[in-house]
Amino acid sequence: MDADVAIVGLGAAGSLSAWRLASRGAKVIGFERFKIGHDRGSSHGGTRAIRTAFGSLEYVRLLTQAFPLWRQLEAETRIQLLTLTRGLVIGALQGELVSGVLESARLNGLEHCLLDKVDMERLYPSHRLANGEVGVIEEQAGYLRPERAVGAATARAEELGARIMPMTMVKSVEAGHGYVTIQTDRGPITAAKALITAGPWTLKLLPDLGLPLAVERQVVAWFTVKDPAAFRPERFPIFIHELTGSRFRYGFPTTDGRSVKLAVHHEGTHADPDNIDRDVHEADLAPLRDFLSVHMSGVSDDVVRARVCMYTNAPESRFIVSLPEQLPGVTVLSACSGHGFSVAPVVGELVADLIIEGRRPPAIVRTI
Ligand SMILES: Cc1cc2nc3c(=O)[nH]c(=O)nc-3n(C[C@H](O)[C@H](O)[C@H](O)COP(=O)(O)OP(=O)(O)OC[C@H]3O[C@@H](n4cnc5c(N)ncnc54)[C@H](O)[C@@H]3O)c2cc1C
Repeated sequence: MDADVAIVGLGAAGSLSAWRLASRGAKVIGFERFKIGHDRGSSHGGTRAIRTAFGSLEYVRLLTQAFPLWRQLEAETRIQLLTLTRGLVIGALQGELVSGVLESARLNGLEHCLLDKVDMERLYPSHRLANGEVGVIEEQAGYLRPERAVGAATARAEELGARIMPMTMVKSVEAGHGYVTIQTDRGPITAAKALITAGPWTLKLLPDLGLPLAVERQVVAWFTVKDPAAFRPERFPIFIHELTGSRFRYGFPTTDGRSVKLAVHHEGTHADPDNIDRDVHEADLAPLRDFLSVHMSGVSDDVVRARVCMYTNAPESRFIVSLPEQLPGVTVLSACSGHGFSVAPVVGELVADLIIEGRRPPAIVRTI
């Protein structure tokens, strides 16, 4: 047997799981078809939001546990990954976003503050609110550095004894006889268990499982700012703004001293990860330009760069951990639905509990 656990795909889910599994003594081998920290999947683009006041008690618990694990990875690798900026949500008081954040913050006793239009103009003048809109600041929020985090988790797993194989394509996963065989373009490997974290490629690798996943094309773009000091992380928290019709735009403080990253949440087209349109077109940027012309000050519509990324959506935006009967010993993890990055180390820990100790994850991480 070559390993205790073979991991297929080293994006956020695979690399953070590799770190948690290797930390707990498992002999891990990890495969990645591209180089570590590449920009062809779902774990690139410079920044990822991490918040706390989001959904139910169970989900808030996952998010709360994520912060110390990110700090632990920083301490073990001496690489800075998490910047706290506080989080700002903007929208109508009764809207899905603001009412959801207020409810989650109140129920879970999270520090937050409701700001009216006048407060917002004074404190966060880069945002322009429509009449009837409010802002909510939550204390425990910020951003992560995705490429760095994937690199750090993979390198740390390697230090802890994992064997990492970049530029290695897994062609199939076969199970039976008490072990799993991974066929790669460099030959076969056997392992006691396998963890499939292939993100948007999961359906292609395991087409027969009928997993309820759908891949969606997403575009992020960096727009130049007139006064970079006003958009520094200390002054400009990560934000999400709900527009009418449950449309969401979000953004980050500047990380390059000249631009801010803005994006649309969902509203993307269905995509095939092998044939996705990776070019960014005027039509992709139009909703962001419309947004900043109406709802922001000090951001020009000059695009410095833009990237295509993919969401792998599960029903109700859930996390899916699947133990397919057809593939004994194989765990499939879909940690995405557009919000899988921030909790990746916690989900990695839950997967380690499951693979090493047979302990089932909580209901929020649904097992199907
Ligand atoms: C634009 C955008 C913004 C986002 N914003 C946030 C956010 O603010 N906060 C948040 O928490 N989450 C956010 N997310 C979601 C989050 O980034 C994803 O949930 C997470 O990165 C998914 O990681 P993954 O490892 O499942 O997938 P991926 O990162 O796609 O990793 C899968 C890996 O598997 C490899 N692979 C696939 N098939 C094979 C094979 N056959 N052989 C070998 N290797 C293979 C791929 O090359 C890839 O590296 C965002 C996502 C996008 C696209």
